Amino acid sequence: MFRTHTCGELRLDNVGEEVILTGWVQRLRDKGGMLWVDLRDRYGITQLTMEEGITPAGIMEQARNLGREYVVKVVGKVVERYSKNDKIPTGDVELHVSKIVVLNPAKLPPFLIEDETDGGDDLRMKYRYLDLRRTPVRRNLELRHRMMRATRDYLDGRNFIEVETPYLIKSTPEGARDFVVPSRMNAGEFYALPQSPQTFKQLLMVSGFDKYFQIVKCFRDEDLRADRQPEFTQIDCEMSFVTQEDILNTFEGFIKYLFEKVKGVHINKLPRMTYADAMKYYGSDKPDTRFDMRFVELNPLVKNKGFKVFDDAELVVGICAQGAASYTRKQVDELTDFVKRPQIGATGLVYARVNEDGSIKSSVDKFYTAEDLQAWAKAFNAKPGDLILILAGETDKTRKALNELRLEMGTRLGLRDKNVFSPLWVVDFPLLEWDEDTKRYHAMHHPFTSPKPEDIELIDDRPGQIRANAYDMVINGVEVGGGSIRIHDRRLQEQMFRLLGFSRAEAEAQFGFLMNAFEYGAPPHGGIAFGFDRLCSLFGGSDSIRDYIAFPKNNSGRDVMIDAPAPIAQEQLNELHINMKNLPKG
Ligand code: ASP
Repeated sequence: MFRTHTCGELRLDNVGEEVILTGWVQRLRDKGGMLWVDLRDRYGITQLTMEEGITPAGIMEQARNLGREYVVKVVGKVVERYSKNDKIPTGDVELHVSKIVVLNPAKLPPFLIEDETDGGDDLRMKYRYLDLRRTPVRRNLELRHRMMRATRDYLDGRNFIEVETPYLIKSTPEGARDFVVPSRMNAGEFYALPQSPQTFKQLLMVSGFDKYFQIVKCFRDEDLRADRQPEFTQIDCEMSFVTQEDILNTFEGFIKYLFEKVKGVHINKLPRMTYADAMKYYGSDKPDTRFDMRFVELNPLVKNKGFKVFDDAELVVGICAQGAASYTRKQVDELTDFVKRPQIGATGLVYARVNEDGSIKSSVDKFYTAEDLQAWAKAFNAKPGDLILILAGETDKTRKALNELRLEMGTRLGLRDKNVFSPLWVVDFPLLEWDEDTKRYHAMHHPFTSPKPEDIELIDDRPGQIRANAYDMVINGVEVGGGSIRIHDRRLQEQMFRLLGFSRAEAEAQFGFLMNAFEYGAPPHGGIAFGFDRLCSLFGGSDSIRDYIAFPKNNSGRDVMIDAPAPIAQEQLNELHINMKNLPKG
């Protein structure tokens, strides 16, 4: 028998038992006459104790020669500790060792394998298998596992069936670049890795599967950020004979179940916000609603008073930061610098402080009377001690910039607590988005999303105003999921492709299979997909999804542990009919 117990298992009840443990040597403390080893495995740490006069001399010597991360098997007797350690569950007991077997010695690890490590990011990525030994990293993956289980339980309990769909497919346009795989057997042809199983899950509805889900890898060749990876995991779902309302209710139930089961957090009914309101009041389609600080538009109050910046602006809009009137000149300057950063792009920041006596001091006192400023305060419902911050300019740009400022103020004022969860639905997204660069419409969600029936008549004259039966679930400013009711009618789908600039032949070549399927009895259907890695990081209280992926890629899309991507042998290239002549040698 390799072991009788794990390193996290022994308690006072076991005192007197002879046990066998296996694990890694985390730490050795040698006080001459006494020697302690912390033995670690996935389940915990147990203290091994050796003492001159009690432990056989050979064993003390053997223990002294153990190095960090040696893999050992020890036999010993469980005894009650003299000085207990209440920080670990096994802290009441220790093992008096009678035998040590080194199962495998180890090289000195390149960084400390403890909760607090001295290893930098790059080193820990290179030795990810060592980093994964650390308790906080392992806990993240344990959380991921629990979330996966709870997901399967919930969906299985509601008749969803898990079906795998292929990874070697044809391109699905979901807004990103495809990863492609050359085909050996079909010279000059390529598979694409799925950006999502979108078309397959719709086909499963045509096949009558009624309720489908899959916890599935998706691949998108995009520039990376903290919350993006080239391969990531979705909880992908589709349902037949449903309205948008049915889907929202089913997945509202899902998120509540997940919070309850995994975190013991009760979530109330999810509020719903239209896309138009989200943009108007938060400047974002993924508003962080942990705090209020809603936008107040000021156009009628501020125009025609001689302040050119406001007079020329399409939109003058602000927020009221409660209790921030005490901000110093320096702090306000910092905020001005913040909004003027090129990524944010505002040209300036106007402020108004509401003093304790109710009087108001603003940066534009020259143009506005005390009464004018009082009217502003009223519009914001500002109280003494509050700071009003105002931006002006072109509507979309100004809203976007104010969203950044709102989030920044939320952070500065401590309103974005990671232990508070504020989920909501954002609904009624526009169907299309105008792209200035290519001078054409793009599908805001994807080309399979159905327009709201009452808006279909706009399709020829004002396509930009069509709203979609599309929805996102947003939690704490993070889009955790999104989906739509789909088009299930060939004619409408053809019309949609035409609107998106596909020629008939292009649409047929790329999506003929789907449109043909629509002609063989496609049920009305719709679905949603959740970004599983993002959900995990949100539940775990981290900003990076990498912490929740066992073997993630770095910012350049590299796996530095296995060193991929990498060149391949000439022979492989030949087989794949790839001529590298014109490519830079890597
Ligand atoms: N396939 C979509 C996505 O990945 C989700 C959906 O519409 O169900 O965003």
